[in-house]
Amino acid sequence: MNVRQAPEFPQWPQYDENEREGLIRALEQGQWWRMGGNEVDSFEREFAEFHGAAHALAVTNGTHALELALQCMGVGPGTEVVVPAFTFISSSQAAQRLGAVAVPVDVDPHTYNIDVAAAAAAVTPRTRAIMPVHMAGFLADMDALSKLSADTGVPLLQDAAHAHGARWQGKRVGELGTVAAFSFQNGKLMTAGEGGAVLFPDTEMYETAFLRHSCGRPRTDRRYLHQIAGSNLRLNEFSAAVLRAQLGRVEEQITTRQQRWAVLSPLLDAIDGVVPQRADERTDFPSHYMAMFRVPGIGEEDRNALVDRLVAAGVPAFAAFRAIYRTDAFWEVGAPDETPDQIAERCPHTEAISKDCVWLHHRVLLAGEQDMHRTAEIIADVVAAV
Ligand SMILES: *Cc1c(COP(=O)(O)O)cnc(C)c1O
Repeated sequence: MNVRQAPEFPQWPQYDENEREGLIRALEQGQWWRMGGNEVDSFEREFAEFHGAAHALAVTNGTHALELALQCMGVGPGTEVVVPAFTFISSSQAAQRLGAVAVPVDVDPHTYNIDVAAAAAAVTPRTRAIMPVHMAGFLADMDALSKLSADTGVPLLQDAAHAHGARWQGKRVGELGTVAAFSFQNGKLMTAGEGGAVLFPDTEMYETAFLRHSCGRPRTDRRYLHQIAGSNLRLNEFSAAVLRAQLGRVEEQITTRQQRWAVLSPLLDAIDGVVPQRADERTDFPSHYMAMFRVPGIGEEDRNALVDRLVAAGVPAFAAFRAIYRTDAFWEVGAPDETPDQIAERCPHTEAISKDCVWLHHRVLLAGEQDMHRTAEIIADVVAAV
């Protein structure tokens, strides 16, 4: 491989005076939980407004956001949730943790988003939710999914852990009429290290979710009235103060990532054997969590070696998600009555993508335009070498 100047990528997470001031503000409030302070309440209002949603509820993390949303949608023992087979494991674990069965279905080979026909085929009388995951901030086909939801009566839960600020045909995630769950884990597009939120279009469900996320207890309760089953999923004031500052930076950073992806993606496309992730063009404002590409047919071992070489060359690269049905965790509780090979047979694209796909950290897309050229050159060299 040629030795050339390594590209330079910004650090992640990022912060400035706004995070610093927020933390001090929360500290000096004297009350550090949401029931005593203003930061979580304010963040929820701002986050809901940013996404065009009626209500937002902040929670401890994105996995809990999915769990809470599913619980509010009636998911529990004896029910099923349809999830994409190619996703981060929380999508299925949230359903399984509630005692439900997670039913994995295949994804599209270009967008890596849930295959709507496969989702339709997986719906049974026990299905309580269909969970599209907006992979890397490219939205799943929300038109077809909305139609499927209307036809079957099964509601959608958007796993929007990659989709802060993304838009589908001009509509923000909160304007698509469904519940949506977000993560603020360290790598996500806005972060407080950990954290999560759920958007609700519906006031009644939001009120129930509020109770459930606070041990079933009404906001002003002083008599230990626990009205409904729940847990403690409350976000703390420090995290919310940081997230308020992060929210102020999201849109500008997304715009930069869009500009860089417009440069990097055709460069990747021009490399022999490399196929970048493609957006459904109705995703007119993708948020670009991760820059993903496939090297079709490379095989899992060589893909992993490719990732190692990219990392050695200074590019923050990662192997894409393992198919959820290829993990031990998936089979412990709440798996369908099938074998891994049976699921693999009806998920051929997931099977392939999970072995030939590489993702780059989104901080790559925050670097300069020249760095996109250098990154593509490194990828071309490494792909040619494995
Ligand atoms: C990050 C992530 C989650 C879980 O979020 P945490 O805050 O880490 O619990 C859920 N779904 C997807 C697709 C994710 O990438």
